[in-house]
This record gives sequence, C-alpha cells and structure tokens, in this order.
Amino acid sequence: MHINIHTHHINHECELELLQVFKPEKHPLHASFSFGMLPEHLPLQENWIAWERIIASSSCLAVGECGLDKRIQINMLKQIDFFSKWVDLAIAYHKPLIIHCVKAFNDVINVLEDKHCRVPVIFHGFNNGLNTAELLLQKGYYLSFGKALLGFDSNASKCIRQTPKSQLLLETDDTDLSIKFIYNKAARLLGINEQALMDQIQKNIKSIFKSL
Ligand SMILES: [Zn+2]
Repeated sequence: MHINIHTHHINHECELELLQVFKPEKHPLHASFSFGMLPEHLPLQENWIAWERIIASSSCLAVGECGLDKRIQINMLKQIDFFSKWVDLAIAYHKPLIIHCVKAFNDVINVLEDKHCRVPVIFHGFNNGLNTAELLLQKGYYLSFGKALLGFDSNASKCIRQTPKSQLLLETDDTDLSIKFIYNKAARLLGINEQALMDQIQKNIKSIFKSL
C-alpha cells in the first residue's frame, strides 16, 4: 500500500493520500486532507473561527503545512505569531503537524518546544544537511522526502539513508510525480524492497495516528 503524506493534487493512485488544502472554499473537502497556511500567505484576511472548524472536522487529519520561511520578505516575528496559532490548533485538536521550513529550523523547534508540543511533527519535503536531519530526528520528529530524492547526490538522498525507518515518510508535494516513483527511488537508496518500505511507512502512519 502506497501512502502519500503530502500532496497538492488528488491522484487516486494510492490508498491514502493526504491532500493539502489552503483554500477550503475552493476544494471539495476530500476524504482525508491537511489544512493550514504558509507564511507566504501573509498578510491575509485571518478567519480563525472558520479555520478552527475545518481543523476540528474528522476528515482533517493533520494541521499544516505551516511553518517559517527565511527566504521570504515577511517579518519573522509575524511569521512566528502566525505559525504559533497553527501549532496551538494542532495541540488543541490532537492532530499531527506538517511543517514547511526554509532555513528556520531553530525557530521552528523553539516554537514547538515553547508550546510543549507532543503531537507528531512531520518536516515535509526534507532536503537539508545531515546535521539538521540529526537534530530533528533526535527530537523524535518525522522526515518526509519527495522529489529531492531524484536529484543526483542531493541532501535528501544522503539523509534518507541516515533516517531511522520508523521516522520516514514519502510525499509528492506540489509536483506531478507519481508517489510510486518516489517509493521506487527511496527503496533503491535504502537498499530494501518496495514492499518492505510500504509496510514500514504504513506502520509509521499507524503510530502517528494512534498516538493522538
Ligand atoms: Zn506542499
């Protein structure tokens, strides 16, 4: 069974795909989705009452993607304030967090730790150095890998080998790639067969949702 933990398109090509929703009014709310907003969506008309209602719904399986991005021009304090509210909702409704993080890992960790966040945390689209991977893994967070695995000698392809299999997830994000292609590449990088990888990720998903 293929599980795609983060996709912006419904592909109907696997048993569980977590559709990323930013604009609920534009999406028929898919059976399982994650809902959140990126710092680049700021400034925007905030509507926390409606957003909280969406997060409380049973089809919303995760909060995010949300996070911090040092590449964009938006003030970091504003970003932290916005991100913190999503973390609060994840904690309040016992839903895992899908994190978007660009060059702000320490700031993200500080927010999570200040709030004593105990829900599962997934850093999606991971393609950073081994030191960052180690820091996140040590804290028990999950790393989700996607298209960067296809790049020759990418950080992602080095880090996936060092990631305990129990903290590993796979995704297609906003690409048109097939999740099966990502599984195939990941299995080859890990030197295991695809069925073993599918079984492991299924186990990881179970423990993410069971712990809530
Ligand atoms: Zn995404």
